[in-house]
Amino acid sequence: MSQDLFLDLGEVDKARISAQQYDVIIIGGGPAGLAAGLYTARARLNALLIEKDPLHCNLCLVKRIDNYPGFPEGISGRELIELMEMQARRFGLQIEIGNVIDITNDSDVKTVKTDIRNFRAKALIITTGISRKRQGVDGEEDFQGKGVSYCATCDGPFFKDIPVAVVGGGEEALEEAIFLTKFASQVTVIHSQEELSANEQLQGMAADNEKISLLLNSEVTKIAGKERVEFVEVLDLNTGNTEQLSVGGVFLYTGTRPVKDFLSQLMKMDERGYIITDQDMKTSADGIFAAGDVRYKKVRQVATAVGDGATAASSARKYIQNLQSKS
Ligand SMILES: Cc1cc2nc3c(=O)[nH]c(=O)nc-3n(C[C@H](O)[C@H](O)[C@H](O)COP(=O)(O)OP(=O)(O)OC[C@H]3O[C@@H](n4cnc5c(N)ncnc54)[C@H](O)[C@@H]3O)c2cc1C
Repeated sequence: MSQDLFLDLGEVDKARISAQQYDVIIIGGGPAGLAAGLYTARARLNALLIEKDPLHCNLCLVKRIDNYPGFPEGISGRELIELMEMQARRFGLQIEIGNVIDITNDSDVKTVKTDIRNFRAKALIITTGISRKRQGVDGEEDFQGKGVSYCATCDGPFFKDIPVAVVGGGEEALEEAIFLTKFASQVTVIHSQEELSANEQLQGMAADNEKISLLLNSEVTKIAGKERVEFVEVLDLNTGNTEQLSVGGVFLYTGTRPVKDFLSQLMKMDERGYIITDQDMKTSADGIFAAGDVRYKKVRQVATAVGDGATAASSARKYIQNLQSKS
């Protein structure tokens, strides 16, 4: 999302926007939020999207996306977000920068509190995505997009016939390790505990796969190379010895968490904190919808986020129509 476009709004416009009550407020400016923004604005609803960090949105950090339809040569995450933003603005979506810190749901009016000011709306769509736990390993930041990845579904095809390491021992780590064997020459799963924590079926599948090897009781202490990742240093926690493992890629799976700190007890979530919705993206809170990575679902990708956003917008529109027909 381009900060420049937002800065083009004059002070008068900003004051007008802040005084208004909206039909819909969308929290989060990733693909789910911008798709919801496009659909709500195009349906002539008075829609506002609030994004806390336009320059560092999750997708903006992705160098190339090859699996979003319509871009046969691939497209960078930043470019895709900017195109989505331009398209939504063309239909009148308003965008504010702000970190949402609280929402209150008083029957038909929802109040959204940001670190800058408050807004009110009839319906809300939450699209705040997930945050990934960084390992904080030496070299992790430097080699992001140059061999360090957090998503095999997204980046696996870039590692054809190259040995890779997967860090983590849970379900996500093993699923992704098995997926990576379609491309990589060898997949070494490195886990700091004595046993993997993934379910037995996945453990069995990994054990049966001759491309997968395990390094248990081990920790990656350094990711290194010249232009791209060339090796990792692995500490054996039993012996204290460190060895170098030659790999061209490192996939880090040490956990994700949905971004929903400001929601308190407003709606039902699963045990990991993902928002539970029905197929219309309705949450358990009346008039509040959720879309994209923040909700409980199996596939977290741009294509699914965009689909969720469109569905949430349509549900919000029907919710508002019902409110109007009651009054
Ligand atoms: C390294 C990496 C590579 C990836 N590669 C691909 C790929 O190749 N193809 C693919 O399809 N998918 C890829 N993905 C997954 C894809 O990025 C996500 O599935 C998609 O971005 C989810 O969209 P979203 O709108 O639900 O959430 P996000 O894109 O995460 O957007 C959420 C937005 O909400 C904002 N926000 C959060 N909290 C607040 C708050 N309190 N107030 C205001 N704003 C807030 C955030 O700043 C963020 O901009 C990749 C992900 C990663 C991490």
